[in-house]
Amino acid sequence: MMRLAFLLLLLCSVSLLNAQEIAITFDDAPMEDGVFFSGNERTGKLITELKANNVDQAAFFVITRNIEQNAGLPRLNKYVSAGHVLANHTHRHLWMHQIGTRQYIKDIERAHAILNKINGYSPWFRYPFLNEGHNTGARDSVRAGLKKLGLSNGYVTIDNYDWYINGQVRKAVLAGKKVNEEKLRELYLEHIWNSIQFYNNISEKHLGRSVKHVLLLHENDLAAKFIGDLVKLLRSKGWKIISPTEAYTDPIASEVPDVLFNGQGRVAAIARAKGVPAKELVQESEDEAYLDRLLEDRKVFE
Ligand SMILES: [Zn+2]
Repeated sequence: MMRLAFLLLLLCSVSLLNAQEIAITFDDAPMEDGVFFSGNERTGKLITELKANNVDQAAFFVITRNIEQNAGLPRLNKYVSAGHVLANHTHRHLWMHQIGTRQYIKDIERAHAILNKINGYSPWFRYPFLNEGHNTGARDSVRAGLKKLGLSNGYVTIDNYDWYINGQVRKAVLAGKKVNEEKLRELYLEHIWNSIQFYNNISEKHLGRSVKHVLLLHENDLAAKFIGDLVKLLRSKGWKIISPTEAYTDPIASEVPDVLFNGQGRVAAIARAKGVPAKELVQESEDEAYLDRLLEDRKVFE
């Protein structure tokens, strides 16, 4: 009996030592008005929810062209006043292979110049579509361009299709359908939680540990609605919310894998570089048809 108690104690302390950690980041800010919140309301809601749930710092990756289009400057300032940070997500959010690396780097520089005039800019760059280049030449010239600007890769480790769910909900509401909020909430939380587990399993299996994770969300209505619930869920599972600043101190921040497979985030890319087949590193829910079926099966739209 004593031995069992000791063993349990040991197991508990080991799992405490290894509490999984995750930082929260939102892409494409400041986004347009949604079907549930105006852009401005959404900013207020995100700040309130993060504060109410004691998340001291999240990062907002800014598409600087959105600032003018969506009356975004006061919104960005509000995020910063609330303790959050801004980072670079290019000026126009285009594909590298469509505009070429010279234009692509110019787009990063343009966003960099704009963000430099705003408080709270952290020198991180996140690739639109998480696409770091389709060939090593393009990949490496953009990496060199980032280095010149003093920007580091604002990578993610947890990819998911939150943006697709948000888009389908938007479409449904605009088409006059009614949304079952509770079912939507369940589906959203389950999808994000499954994504976190998927990439954390890869981390434990192929990197030998649970890294300091970086969660990719978008600055959209569903994030504003459910971020508080998501944080509560993560904590209930024993996860710790950390700041993006802390997450990027993980050793994987300087472990740049020599692969073109970067679209699923840094942990998957490192696993790929170790020879893990790509198909094992993409979860089935990162798929539009899969999510359409799920939305239908769960009767999210009435
Ligand atoms: Zn984006």
